[in-house]
Amino acid sequence: MSFLVGLECANCGTGYRPAEIHGLCTHCAKPLLARYDMAKLRRAWHRETLPARTTTLWRFREVLPVQHDDNIFTLGEGGTPLLRARQLSDRLGMTELFIKDEGLNPTGSFKARGLCVAVSRAKELGVEGVVIPSAGNAAGAMCAYAARASMPAHVVMPHDVPSSLRLECLAFGAEVTLVEGTIADCGRKSREIADRDHLFDLSTLKEPYRLEGKKTMGYDLAQDFDWELPDVIVYPTGGGTGLVGMWKAFDELEALGWIGAKRPRMVVVQAQGCAPMVRAFREGKAFASFWDGAATVASGLRVPGAVGDFLILRAVYNSNGTAVSVSDDALLAGQQALAKEEGVLACPEGGATLAALQALLTEGWVRPHERVVLFNTGSGINYPETLGRTAPPPSA
Ligand SMILES: *Cc1c(COP(=O)(O)O)cnc(C)c1O
Ligand SMILES: [Zn+2]
Repeated sequence: MSFLVGLECANCGTGYRPAEIHGLCTHCAKPLLARYDMAKLRRAWHRETLPARTTTLWRFREVLPVQHDDNIFTLGEGGTPLLRARQLSDRLGMTELFIKDEGLNPTGSFKARGLCVAVSRAKELGVEGVVIPSAGNAAGAMCAYAARASMPAHVVMPHDVPSSLRLECLAFGAEVTLVEGTIADCGRKSREIADRDHLFDLSTLKEPYRLEGKKTMGYDLAQDFDWELPDVIVYPTGGGTGLVGMWKAFDELEALGWIGAKRPRMVVVQAQGCAPMVRAFREGKAFASFWDGAATVASGLRVPGAVGDFLILRAVYNSNGTAVSVSDDALLAGQQALAKEEGVLACPEGGATLAALQALLTEGWVRPHERVVLFNTGSGINYPETLGRTAPPPSA
């Protein structure tokens, strides 16, 4: 069962009842975070129970928001492999380099974690249909889980997304609206459609439960490493749900008594053509300003303004982490190296983590004997146009 007890605004602290449908905080328009009864859980739940459970993220059932098992709409998400990167380690002179391969999730990306939990919880709360603005993996993941939960789904995409993505959504029975313009224009259109058709908006961090699904990457890692977190986590950051989610997971894990106070240094990786978090970090800011003219082949990183910006930056500052941007050339080279040297058909965003790691090793910010995890957030299969390419696209 779930030990969810409330929702709390991450900015102003206002509390909300979890049995109702909520989006952003109604006072300050910032994200809401799910809170669980950790004191009770610490006595009631032990990590030794995990191996006998499902390998999906639902083994962390107690710290997920869904109350009734009947409302879990799973496709086998989570529990992805943590791979030792031997050849890359040797080449980089490292000893403990790992890849968490999220490409093995349903629909080929870690977006499955967040949308599985968000769709399941939305269904439980009586939501009748869902809508999302997306130029990437969130679209397919939402449509897959909506199909499984027999909920109507509507996706709003920029007209120039790869056709494979549009076809994937159509295959899941969703309605697709194409918009001339950017993802921001899609967001506006999606709000219109939500009002018109009474659909619930599943945009990242605009409802509280995608974060809960993505935080399970942190729970996974802790278990993968036998409850001793690594020294450094390198994460390709767009809206930041994954990074913020893992950071939340670590606090919960400590409250459970499953890990100690040690935290990894969190590294935000962005593309040079869209790096609002890197800029804000360099300037020591608490919030990031909008990035004009965002352009990169890594569609997951093409997020010019993130509603959870202050949560991303907080995690980076509090962990003594850093933020790095890499060129499209470098991230595509990283993507190729992950495939050629480790057999991991990575997405370009995954390639960006390797490019960032190389820069951080050169600077001496990462030391060769530290335990480092690169997050490959999706499968290269979803990006056929980037495979084997070394130069950025002419339009970028
Ligand atoms: C969405 C996405 C990202 C960015 O994820 P956030 O957690 O929202 O920052 C990175 N990589 C891929 C492949 C994505 O689809
Ligand atoms: Zn608030």
